[in-house]
Amino acid sequence: MRVRAFWTEDTDPDGVALARAESAGAVDAFGERFGRYPYGELDIVLSPDFAVFGSMEYPGFVLLWTDRDGSGAAHEIAHQWWYGIVGDDEYADPWLDEAFATYAQDLFHGESGQGCWSQVYWPRPDAAITDSMGYWAEPPGPAGWTSVVYRAGSCALHDLERELGTPVMERMLRTYAADHWYGVSTDADFLRAARTAAGRDLTAFWAAHRIEAGPAGSRR
Ligand SMILES: [Zn+2]
Repeated sequence: MRVRAFWTEDTDPDGVALARAESAGAVDAFGERFGRYPYGELDIVLSPDFAVFGSMEYPGFVLLWTDRDGSGAAHEIAHQWWYGIVGDDEYADPWLDEAFATYAQDLFHGESGQGCWSQVYWPRPDAAITDSMGYWAEPPGPAGWTSVVYRAGSCALHDLERELGTPVMERMLRTYAADHWYGVSTDADFLRAARTAAGRDLTAFWAAHRIEAGPAGSRR
């Protein structure tokens, strides 16, 4: 497949080179890990002028805020799988795309999330990874949202990988992606996939990681 890059004149050339290399590497790495990228082409658009929103993903197309240190290419390209190929309700279940894209981005950068759980910042005592955007829209608002959905969520996935073992985690995510390819997944679908791969009940793991699927998770 082709990765085509476009950039504005004011984009740092070193940043362009880094973003292009990371994009090509990420498509290969995630294709191997989650299932082959299906679209034949991925277009990346680079600019230092996206600072106002950062970066943004669309199927087959990502906008990447790019400076001389590169871009968030791995994260945005991971979204090709998590929200794109395996769709989800981004309002009800934001963790199904953001936690998964952050986890994939960590894998690409060789980060295992060891010890990350103890460093998670919980902005509210009752916050759960599976909370909807409705929860985060209520006062005091979205402060701490990225800490819970992106960081705690990806950390829970790293811990799940430690719980299951890497080969089982890899097999589980490939199967989960294949089962929902071009479809829409839910909390319950993912928990079922993990339970099936583990071959045992994971209730205690989900509870310890503030993952509340089903009626409890969609309550708010
Ligand atoms: Zn994201």
